[in-house]
Amino acid sequence: MQNEAWISSLSTLAEDFEIVVAGGGIAGLTAGLVSARLGRKTLLLAGDVLGGLLLSIERIDGVPGFPDGVPGYELCPMAQEQAVTAGAEVVATSLDRLARQDGKWRVTAGDRDIAASAVILATGSTLKKLGLPAETRLLGKGVSQCASCDGPLVRNRAVAVIGGGDSALQEASTLANFASRVIVLHRGKTLSAQAAYRRHASQHPKIELRFDTVVEDILGEDRVTGIRTRDAASGLTAALELAAVFVYIGLEPNATFLRGQIDLDPTGRVPTDARMRTALPGVLAAGVVRSGSPGRAVGSAGEGAIAAVAADEYVSDGAW
Ligand code: NDP
Repeated sequence: MQNEAWISSLSTLAEDFEIVVAGGGIAGLTAGLVSARLGRKTLLLAGDVLGGLLLSIERIDGVPGFPDGVPGYELCPMAQEQAVTAGAEVVATSLDRLARQDGKWRVTAGDRDIAASAVILATGSTLKKLGLPAETRLLGKGVSQCASCDGPLVRNRAVAVIGGGDSALQEASTLANFASRVIVLHRGKTLSAQAAYRRHASQHPKIELRFDTVVEDILGEDRVTGIRTRDAASGLTAALELAAVFVYIGLEPNATFLRGQIDLDPTGRVPTDARMRTALPGVLAAGVVRSGSPGRAVGSAGEGAIAAVAADEYVSDGAW
């Protein structure tokens, strides 16, 4: 949920900020909050969807102080309100380009150029796709990447979740609140999800785990009616009747706009030192776009805070 009252207009923004944060997920919101609390003139480019991927998560687990988890649609607006109250300006637009100019960074967002002494990249990631033609054709017609949005639409019906990591099992658990049966299809022999999720899924009466299962096609003309799978060991194919398919097969970092400026790691993420500083003076990275980020909400928030402190020091002394 985007709190419109806290969003500034791009056209009326100042031309110069000390710290610009790109990204409205938990890393960016925390960086904006900490930067503003340090007294820096701070702009947060929150992108089109404030909260990033976390926004649609029904229950973020492992956050200290929230023993029963916290919904992303509550945590993100709270963090945004905190950042704005601390003095950060937030605009609902994305960073398009970054260029060095007169000893500062020129940040291009839409048709505006803004000068920044330091830039924190917290642009997050996008959910990966399987790459099947039917996945695109049936998106929103039974193919989904948002369990909390589309779970209520599959009440008492059978659905599949594709993937074997934390996201797949976390979202399978959300779907089990609605669907009659949730079949998790993993292409490998062992799940990479954390132990707490593996335990929960294996004990849940509505969740079934299938291994060595490759999804070859998603079936249906106007709506998903099922999928065709192949057993990775035997090669045998089978059809499975389903009301919907939820794809959670990993994350694609949003860093392509940096190609040619920073050497990204082999997974496309931005390398930094322990203080979140990239190879470019005054440019820092935090959250899942960063190489080596642990992929936890609290980890991303921590990285946002570290980046803001390092950016503040750079703005003060110019040392890198
Ligand atoms: P991961 O990269 O961790 O897992 C991706 C899963 O999808 C793997 O099982 C992988 O299988 C499978 N996969 C990848 N490509 C394909 C494909 N083309 N077809 C079928 N299966 C495929 O991604 P997640 O989204 O699960 O997690 C991303 C990050 O977010 C992680 O760091 C995770 O820990 C974190 N996270 C943390 C949570 C928490 O702490 N509460 C909750 C959710 C996510 P294979 O192993 O065979 O490659």
